[in-house]
Amino acid sequence: MISKEDIELAKKARLNACSPGGKFQVGAALRTKNGKVYLGCNIGNNGIQSICAERTAFVKALSEGEREFESITVVGAPIGQEPTEKCLPCGYCRQFMSEYVDEFFKIGVVDKENNIEEFTINDLLPHSFKF
Ligand SMILES: [Zn+2]
Repeated sequence: MISKEDIELAKKARLNACSPGGKFQVGAALRTKNGKVYLGCNIGNNGIQSICAERTAFVKALSEGEREFESITVVGAPIGQEPTEKCLPCGYCRQFMSEYVDEFFKIGVVDKENNIEEFTINDLLPHSFKF
């Protein structure tokens, strides 16, 4: 169950989003099974190498040796606005996450009332590529 604390952490992470040409800011709070939280924001550039908040958080955690993940909470909105729409992970992030999470991992998004909607990776990426 994703907590309100994780929503607030994702909102805090979102404030660091940077993208020269972009107008959308996303924050993510990735919680490990041992209770640590890694934050991520979207980091863009004018080429095609932009990275999403979700993968930023995963790359930080994976590079620190983390391998057991509980949940990720994602918030996003245009610059200067509060997140009001559910910000679901893009296709790259769904595939990326699917290779590091189990069937119980929760992906949480919020609406303007801070209501949390939770999904599993199988909800968002059924029949995914695996080998
Ligand atoms: Zn993405």
